[in-house]
Amino acid sequence: MMNALQKSSITNKTSIFDGAGLDALRKRLRIDPGVLRRLRIDFFKNRLDADDCLSRMPSNLKETFGRELSFNALKIKERFDSQFDGATKLIFETPAGFVIESVILRAATGRVALCLSSQVGCAAACDFCATGKMGVARDLSAAEIVDQLAHANRLLRSEDRQVRNLVFMGMGEPLHNMEQVHAAIELFTSPLFFNHPPNRILVSTVGITDKLIALANQLPSVNYAISLHSVNQAERESIIPIAKRYSLDSLRNAIVELNQIQSERTSVMIEYLMLDSLNDSPNDAALLMRWVSGLRVHVNLIPYNHVEEAPHLNPSPRTKIEAFGNRLKQAGVPTTIRYSMGRDIDAACGQLVKRENQAIAKELSIQCAL
Ligand code: SAH
Repeated sequence: MMNALQKSSITNKTSIFDGAGLDALRKRLRIDPGVLRRLRIDFFKNRLDADDCLSRMPSNLKETFGRELSFNALKIKERFDSQFDGATKLIFETPAGFVIESVILRAATGRVALCLSSQVGCAAACDFCATGKMGVARDLSAAEIVDQLAHANRLLRSEDRQVRNLVFMGMGEPLHNMEQVHAAIELFTSPLFFNHPPNRILVSTVGITDKLIALANQLPSVNYAISLHSVNQAERESIIPIAKRYSLDSLRNAIVELNQIQSERTSVMIEYLMLDSLNDSPNDAALLMRWVSGLRVHVNLIPYNHVEEAPHLNPSPRTKIEAFGNRLKQAGVPTTIRYSMGRDIDAACGQLVKRENQAIAKELSIQCAL
């Protein structure tokens, strides 16, 4: 984990997310362990910013810590609040100058979810997803992933709220960046850092089956979601190019294995994008029912959000989505329809795109992963 965290550091400072580095710093400077404990409580639990954390340090250590410790891996660049619902889009800049987004989703129930990015761009290149059309894929470091939560929670403090659910549904394919995502989840769940319950973390994947099983073996209490979208192999390949490498059969086998690895109370989420006249007919519902039978899953139907780059795709009408969902429910398949937020600020599923990254990548001559 230490390497993973050091990878992103472009200063010589120790990151507050680097446990081993913090211990080394404490020993080198002969700091009382209680001081570090207090700092962790202030930063992770009380959600104070760097200045406030430093102002509460013993006076002889303020300057040293200011010089030696870095509190944030990302800078907030911009913030957009939806006029219609409880979505807030946060735009961050990474130390290398890339731009990524996270979305805070305040549900009417009062619960707050944070949609996290795991990469700059995405190599999966799904037809319906704006991020996949960016043509750039660069991994975020674990520190850059977890700092999205630190920023969001600090912002929510003034509203007397905090993030309850963490979902890897922002930019990127988490399993293309498995090492850093794994390290980030360790930081989220560690009592020394964010102390976030693992069963309130969801990793959503396009279906990189081998990596999915490997991660689930290491982190069985985390929730997993698979972007299925079609149970017809040719049709799935036409909207998800990477499906050529991971067949529907291998995906189904992976879910069988996941069900064995995880507790009986945990089911795998099947994400199913509702695309008009493409995968939303009564026959499609019947095929999906057959495909999921015998699996411990729940189906989440996703209304398609328009993206500029895919003018040929249209959302299914609401009545069709409901009819499709009712068929599944009648057959005993737990099914929900995703409540979409943040459309007016381009923060809804699939709408996260940052074109400025292409120019930055060119400058840094980073290879396009497509
Ligand atoms: N790479 C991961 C996570 C990112 S996207 C994955 O593929 O699962 C999270 C979810 O949003 C996925 O199910 C994805 O298919 C869906 N999505 C992508 N584009 C969308 C769009 N335009 N409208 C609605 N959902 C979309």
